Amino acid sequence: MMDRRTFLKLTGSAALLASTGASPALSQISLGTGTLTTLSDGNLVLPRSMVLGGLPAEVDAILSTAGVEGPNLTPECNLALWEDGDAKVLFDAGSGTGFMPSAGFLIDSLDAAGLYPEDITHVVFTHAHPDHLWGILDDFDDVAFPESKLLMGRVERDYWLDPNTIDTIGQERQSFVAGALRRLELIADRIEVFDDGAVPLPGINAWMTPGHTPGHMAFEVRSGSNSALIVGDALGNHHVSFAHPEWEVGSDQDQAQGAASRARIFDRLKAEDMQIIGFHLPNGGMGRAEAMPEGGYRFVNS
Ligand SMILES: [Zn+2]
Repeated sequence: MMDRRTFLKLTGSAALLASTGASPALSQISLGTGTLTTLSDGNLVLPRSMVLGGLPAEVDAILSTAGVEGPNLTPECNLALWEDGDAKVLFDAGSGTGFMPSAGFLIDSLDAAGLYPEDITHVVFTHAHPDHLWGILDDFDDVAFPESKLLMGRVERDYWLDPNTIDTIGQERQSFVAGALRRLELIADRIEVFDDGAVPLPGINAWMTPGHTPGHMAFEVRSGSNSALIVGDALGNHHVSFAHPEWEVGSDQDQAQGAASRARIFDRLKAEDMQIIGFHLPNGGMGRAEAMPEGGYRFVNS
């Protein structure tokens, strides 16, 4: 008898998409014995002035070269799924339904890929911002991926649980604190923490890349001689982050630290020619950094 999953695999996602409006699994690569897929959670709508305010006038040309127009930025939200053997590891949990109407579609995207939430074995967080953490709970405050182990960097977890954070983070990010705290408290007994340089799961290396948040983590996924770098929001866009990684931008909580992390990431990408998986990078978020003759880089989907 054909089960629902086989039906979805046979019919592909196109018919399903027509009925639900969900986004398909956007991109997929093989890496050694495993597969990396990105799944759309929708997109954010952010005032350009909030993300890129105060930058040199050159920013206008960079944005128009990158095809970005208007007063708002609408970055995609792409979650990475690493499947290797029995492991189905999701990086971040998406926004859930309570953050923005344009985001929170991860479960539909999983469905379109023929997966159930209970198939996810692990959720590994890059950081605890709303678009990455809030989807961990469903509308009933139950963990949205009921069979999963939850893993988060220790510095990041401790920062959002610290009672001083609400008073020191600044007004524009205060709602992030309340939202993170509520969720981290509800999932406290299911979270395992790890530190910079740890291997939270086989083949996955954690790399502290702070600045966007105090304990932001990137993850190198390695299988055989192949590797990919899940950069989270350390490379938060395909325009300014690549063209001028040294510019300090409003989307980073500690702007100087964010620029320093980008410099370290690009050094590593250049040395190892690694695949990039970026949460807010376009067309599914998979690609590479191409060095430009005038300095800086360009994001190229691949
Ligand atoms: Zn984000």
